[in-house]
Amino acid sequence: MASAASSPVRVRFCPSPTGNPHVGLVRTALFNWAFARHHQGTLVFRIEDTDAARDSEESYEQLLDSMRWLGFDWDEGPEVGGPHAPYRQSQRMDLYKDVADKLLDAGHAYRCYCSTEELDARREAARAAGKPSGYDGHCRELSAGQVAAYEAEGRAPIVRFRMPDEAITFTDLVRGEITYQPENVPDYGIVRANGAPLYTLVNPVDDAAMEITHVLRGEDLLSSTPRQIALYRALTELGVAKEIPAFGHLPYVMGEGNKKLSKRDPQASLNLYRERGFLPEGLLNYLSLLGWSLSADRDIFTTDELIAAFDLSDVNPNPARFDLKKCEAINGDHIRMLEAKDFAERCRPWLRAPVAPWAPEDFDETKWQAIAPHAQTRLKVLSEITDNVDFLFLPEPVFDEASWTKAMKEGSDALLTTARQKLQAADWTSPDALKDAVLAAGEAHGLKLGKAQAPVRVAVTGRTVGLPLFESLEVLGKEKALARIDAALARLTA
Ligand code: GLU
Ligand code: ZN
Repeated sequence: MASAASSPVRVRFCPSPTGNPHVGLVRTALFNWAFARHHQGTLVFRIEDTDAARDSEESYEQLLDSMRWLGFDWDEGPEVGGPHAPYRQSQRMDLYKDVADKLLDAGHAYRCYCSTEELDARREAARAAGKPSGYDGHCRELSAGQVAAYEAEGRAPIVRFRMPDEAITFTDLVRGEITYQPENVPDYGIVRANGAPLYTLVNPVDDAAMEITHVLRGEDLLSSTPRQIALYRALTELGVAKEIPAFGHLPYVMGEGNKKLSKRDPQASLNLYRERGFLPEGLLNYLSLLGWSLSADRDIFTTDELIAAFDLSDVNPNPARFDLKKCEAINGDHIRMLEAKDFAERCRPWLRAPVAPWAPEDFDETKWQAIAPHAQTRLKVLSEITDNVDFLFLPEPVFDEASWTKAMKEGSDALLTTARQKLQAADWTSPDALKDAVLAAGEAHGLKLGKAQAPVRVAVTGRTVGLPLFESLEVLGKEKALARIDAALARLTA
């Protein structure tokens, strides 16, 4: 980035606090954060809460909590403050009013008295005639008499920005040069009839006030860029803005069936990933790949490596596909990368109420510490831990009927009887000895290890799949394991 060297990078993350953050938003936050950190720049966190109908305090708290959980930090914004405070748009209304007045006075904006019905009717007519159907400039040059007549009718005007009658060209940092023709970018509303300023005004006004150098955001906002550039030019003329920022639009994220991942898509909700036990670093690693790559042959990296390598020139403009399987696989790799102690601690929320089905007093810390390393090699997400270790803390295994039917075949009772004898005689301090016991039992019945261990596993853990069996047996202990084999035998012969 040539400009980064000349002026310090100032980027912003500016969500509206409306419900659960979705992964598209997190990807945008991540790219801004990585870009700021890579360039030792400043990340401004701004809350775009001017839509009183949709924004809530609860959503605001949720948003901050999500950002913290992801491990993001910001240099200016809520909680940390900064030279451009306040960072909540709902607390900056005077500024927007002042700028709107200046734009009106200078003729860059005008009052538009058109009613919704009139606008709709004219739009339909334009469409039918095959003409551009955006705002037609009706109120651009109203005479004093027309204004007086509208006012007398009691019409409340909106404020509209006057787009220049010329093409607007800019170089998108991701997409290259883009030109918009004036007929495709009509004059647009910046203040509602009730005086409430719109996103179209407050977002660029704040970017100007906060001296943002690079606007990195989703492709869905690309079409607002020519409007914002025109507004910026007016603000520069009025001395409200200094420099027009560079813009870069990050590619769409596609979900199932190659449709744009929508905010309402359950798979898009950040909370889902938290609840399922994704590690923030695993999730960020995966999300960074939605439009960017570190190198062709490496898709697992730490957040520090991401920051060190992050460059906008590597952002791909093509839509990125969200692949849950890959996301899980990458998360699994990050689970493997944790220190053993850290892994054991991060599993805690899934080892207690309300998630864990066992009584709190039945949880056994020693057994947990003994089994944790065997779980760390297998999990894709932390929430899988509960089902994998419940056999250790529940008085009885939870029999999953499908597993039982699958593992308990004809001859399983004979096999289990032999396995019980061999296990009874084995050395329970060694998983290898337990394996030899089951192996020998299998040989006695003409079964390979895999077939021989299935009924033992189901008898002891309730399931056909799980953590390595012989380590599981060792941690559970001889007495309990043998009692469970007895119970399974009783059930088989009943
Ligand atoms: N508050 C806007 C949004 O959530 C910000 C868009 C932008 O980055 O300009 O979509
Ligand atoms: Zn009008």
